[in-house]
Amino acid sequence: MQELERGDSGIRSMASVQGSLVMYPIYKYGNEEQRRKYLPKLGSGEFIGCFGLTEPDHGSNPNGMITNIKDDGDAYILNGAKMWITNSPVADIAVVWAKDEEGIIRGMIVEKDMKGFSAPEIHGKWSLRASVTGELVFEDVRVPKANMLPNIQGLKGPLGCLSKARYGIAWGAVGAALDCYDSALRYSKEREQFGKKLGQFQLTQKKLAEMITEITKAQLLSWRLGTLANSGKATPAQISMAKRNNVAMALEVAREARQMHGGMGITGEYPIT
Ligand SMILES: Cc1cc2nc3c(=O)[nH]c(=O)nc-3n(C[C@H](O)[C@H](O)[C@H](O)COP(=O)(O)OP(=O)(O)OC[C@H]3O[C@@H](n4cnc5c(N)ncnc54)[C@H](O)[C@@H]3O)c2cc1C
Repeated sequence: MQELERGDSGIRSMASVQGSLVMYPIYKYGNEEQRRKYLPKLGSGEFIGCFGLTEPDHGSNPNGMITNIKDDGDAYILNGAKMWITNSPVADIAVVWAKDEEGIIRGMIVEKDMKGFSAPEIHGKWSLRASVTGELVFEDVRVPKANMLPNIQGLKGPLGCLSKARYGIAWGAVGAALDCYDSALRYSKEREQFGKKLGQFQLTQKKLAEMITEITKAQLLSWRLGTLANSGKATPAQISMAKRNNVAMALEVAREARQMHGGMGITGEYPIT
């Protein structure tokens, strides 16, 4: 995730969804038949997956979701809509979260050819533009009971997936910061002012030293979290702390790197964002 986001945040986003939000729930909450049917193709990239939790009126509070399923013999009838779904227009399958008739959140695998299912693209995003985003629309979609994820019920299902994705994003933020650092370092060796390279001024060196120190600390935090996760001990709070720290660090490194590139340097306006 670090190296992917070093290239582009949108590519990391796609990979996070595929691994943490689609393959993980099928592996963890699915049965053996579902694992064998979907995981090899998702792993090889033959299948693209997406994860449908957010709705137009329920983002931060997914528990309020209104997408629902009704029992219909050997299938469930799915109705509702999901919004801001990474990969949805190109996805072969969607892991979808919906409420059953008792109001319990259930996870299921919806396939792209199921009647009544569409995934229109959302156009004009201002960032993450290499990542395609769309909606999921369900109009009386018949989802076979064999496609239900049997081993999970309730909000802890999607939240467990989001913890995995958050760990990946903690690494991704380090990659974004590394790219900013690399480009600032390169520029400081090329650009001359006052008859010297920018990098020959001690103030510039201090800024670069601080950037790479913060990046290295973030790497150590993520690495330690990975070792805890490998032994099944990483808590959601620790994962959130790592993501929070690393994203804040990446924003600060990006701000410094942008400032070093000038345009709004010492004689101009100070950048606001
Ligand atoms: C590029 C992109 C890709 C995405 N991909 C997916 C995906 O693949 N699958 C998926 O299910 N979802 C996806 N999402 C949706 C994303 O998870 C939601 O945007 C997120 O949950 C926030 O919901 P919202 O946008 O409706 O904002 P809202 O919940 O409406 O929040 C608006 C603002 O209010 C703040 N706020 C909300 N509640 C509180 C509170 N209690 N206290 C203080 N402040 C609060 C929020 O922090 C935010 O700043 C994606 C979003 C984007 C932008």
